[in-house]
Amino acid sequence: MASSFFRRPSLLRLKAGFTPTSLTNHEPAARNSITFNISGTLPRHYAVQVPPSPGLKEPVTSPRDTDKYWQKVKIWENVTKEDFLSYRWQGANTIERQDKLLHFLEKVLPEVLPQPANGDLVSPQTMKRDDFLADVLDGMRLAPMSIRLTPHMLSVVDWTNPIVDPIRRQFIPLKSTLVRDLPRLALDSLYETHDSPVPGLVHRYPEKVLFLATSVCPVYCRFCTRSYAVGGPTESVNKTPTRPGRKRWEAMFEYIEKTPVVQDIVVSGGDSYMLHADHLRLIGERLLAMPNVKRFRFATKGLAVCPMRILDHSDGWTEAFVELSNKGRSMGKQVAMHTHFNHPKEITWVTELAARRLFEHGVTVRNQTVLLRGVNDDLETMSTLIRRLADLNIQPYYVYQADMVRGVEDMRSPLWKILELEKHIRGTIAGFMTPSFIVDLPGGGGKRLANSFETYDRASGISTWKAPGVTGDEVFEYHDPVI
Ligand code: SF4
Repeated sequence: MASSFFRRPSLLRLKAGFTPTSLTNHEPAARNSITFNISGTLPRHYAVQVPPSPGLKEPVTSPRDTDKYWQKVKIWENVTKEDFLSYRWQGANTIERQDKLLHFLEKVLPEVLPQPANGDLVSPQTMKRDDFLADVLDGMRLAPMSIRLTPHMLSVVDWTNPIVDPIRRQFIPLKSTLVRDLPRLALDSLYETHDSPVPGLVHRYPEKVLFLATSVCPVYCRFCTRSYAVGGPTESVNKTPTRPGRKRWEAMFEYIEKTPVVQDIVVSGGDSYMLHADHLRLIGERLLAMPNVKRFRFATKGLAVCPMRILDHSDGWTEAFVELSNKGRSMGKQVAMHTHFNHPKEITWVTELAARRLFEHGVTVRNQTVLLRGVNDDLETMSTLIRRLADLNIQPYYVYQADMVRGVEDMRSPLWKILELEKHIRGTIAGFMTPSFIVDLPGGGGKRLANSFETYDRASGISTWKAPGVTGDEVFEYHDPVI
């Protein structure tokens, strides 16, 4: 099965003049710490040299082409590598408001946009830019997630054909593509708030807890499983953002300390990338000091959406992570990073350098992909993504069936699609690099292998499941989207 977006030309026709200035709450960071030299031995390729930083082995180099891919976006055609690789620059140019996104789109989109190849998205042959902007505005008004996008992600979108672009589809809603919600859909489809003994802590599996350190992320995904809490409020969903805070975390730490059966912690949110290095250290050191905690992982989409932070020595996040990883190893405890790539286009040479840096410093990185319609629900795209991740020494750990979350029904695929993908992918790549294809059961049943359903009626789209080790004889249902 071939993916049309692999064959699309990526020429951009853009307008100049916009300089977004929104600031995130990231730490300020000095620049001028990364230099680039053209390698005499590798024509057409660059070797990137990163100066030493205390405690980490250097330099990290890559033989990959350092294409200035961001310069295809007209407003960034004069942005230097030094600036683009600066985490501070990425933060300062992150788009995190509806009006700023519309302003950006006005500058980068052609006047007329092409019709999508698959006619189920919108009907006209072409669409005027103003109509597209109105469609985005209407989509944002209905969306459960607010807007936030990093320059790295904005630079890998094909703005000449945004309607079908797999990156645009993940982050920028179009009202014309929305599909009516099934009655069973919910904002908290996994019932996380039902299994929360302490605010911010989810305890569902006997030995594992989910530690929600913050509710903010470097980007906001339309399909977020925590649409009920992550990001700022939208016109359709009221939310109170939860910032990182020691006082709130203390109650969570106490619960873990007083619950000896808990051995395994997922530090998530929100996103661990939004923690300051000191906060990352505080959480990691505190967990390492607990005798009952044997392992933990920090969940972050950062490597996928802003790999610059991993390379930027003026920011201490990566150093703090590597220190925790090394300390954990010396204590016989695993400290890992769980990240979230959904499409091969998200991987650039900057990503490769960042993944290489983590690998060279012994950090275990695993990836969790969400299966999304029109993004990665074809064999070629999913196979390519898994191989690219394997080549970066990022373990392709899970591919999730999209959760039954409200407001993003246009992005879900039926269960048979994930079953078909697994059938065709398993055996084509080393077993330890083949992901588990998973359904996270609505209503709190937990994660099950997609092919372990009790029943599946393709005509009605309803599958049933049990999770005997977690919820006994209780039966859970997953409902395919009506498409
Ligand atoms: S990065 Fe993760 S937590 Fe944040 S919006 Fe995306 S899916 Fe949700």
